[in-house]
Amino acid sequence: MMKLSDCRYDGKGTFKLADYPTSAKIDKAKRPEIEELMAKNIERMKELQDKLAAQGSEGVIVMIQAMDAAGKDGAIKHAMSGLNPQTIEVYNFKTPSKEELAHDYLWRAVCHLPKRGNIGVFNRTHYEDVLIVRVRGLWHGYNMPKRCLELDEDTFFAQRYERITNFEDHLFENGYRLVKIFLNISRKEQKKRFLARIEEPDKNWKFSAGDLDESELWPEYMDAFEKAINATSTKVNPWYVIPADQKFFARYLVSEAILETLEACEPEYPKLSEEEIAEMEACRPRLES
Ligand code: ATP
Ligand code: MG
Repeated sequence: MMKLSDCRYDGKGTFKLADYPTSAKIDKAKRPEIEELMAKNIERMKELQDKLAAQGSEGVIVMIQAMDAAGKDGAIKHAMSGLNPQTIEVYNFKTPSKEELAHDYLWRAVCHLPKRGNIGVFNRTHYEDVLIVRVRGLWHGYNMPKRCLELDEDTFFAQRYERITNFEDHLFENGYRLVKIFLNISRKEQKKRFLARIEEPDKNWKFSAGDLDESELWPEYMDAFEKAINATSTKVNPWYVIPADQKFFARYLVSEAILETLEACEPEYPKLSEEEIAEMEACRPRLES
């Protein structure tokens, strides 16, 4: 069975998207077993989340990127269900507002960083600024000085990859760990899911004709993902390229990635000093009288 380590790319060698499957081809009969494994992961995540929050020294940011209908929302919902909502901060990176466009592209990521001790979820991320912005050439239309825009495309985005890598190093140096996930769906499966959105009334609300326009640019998107992942994966901030054609298995792997990162934090409940323990003990008689 495919493991999380098979999905990790930490910058060693050259990243080729074609080396990473869109399906792990898990027998459907195994689904209950996989779901049980995920439930166990979540139980462990709960313990670690509690300690992470009590300690408050390290933050974890789960970053999810994918083509439409790859299952971002479902992965967040299922792989994190039952965690304590009080110490989770979710932010959805939508089409940038006027206010956001009036700032540099990392501004909104900075504005929405979780506190240390919390688990942040970025549903889409600052990588949109090297994905849709590259594929659609949106940067040509930015209201920025000529010197910022007169670069050729490769140079412009090479600069962004480097800055993003620096930004993520900065986060690591400041007490954050990132879980960078690319849900790797095939175009065929995406089409199937779009059709299901048309056919099943409960899913109609998810249908968006605009998603088809992005889908038409599939090769361009895959190229942009490949370049971005290749340039921004490091030992401390690797990418996980998770096969997404089977939702139940993708969700399990997402839970594995989050759990692995939480384990790496090795959170512990704060230990009190001798004086603090003495102070606490001094309160005992007041409660026992
Ligand atoms: P859902 O459809 O499940 O609600 P979603 O993440 O697809 O979730 P949408 O509002 O449908 O949300 O889409 C957001 C759109 O905004 C996407 O097409 C995304 O590529 C685009 N987007 C995000 N960040 C940027 C950015 N910095 N510049 C331009 N477009 C962006
Ligand atoms: Mg959408």
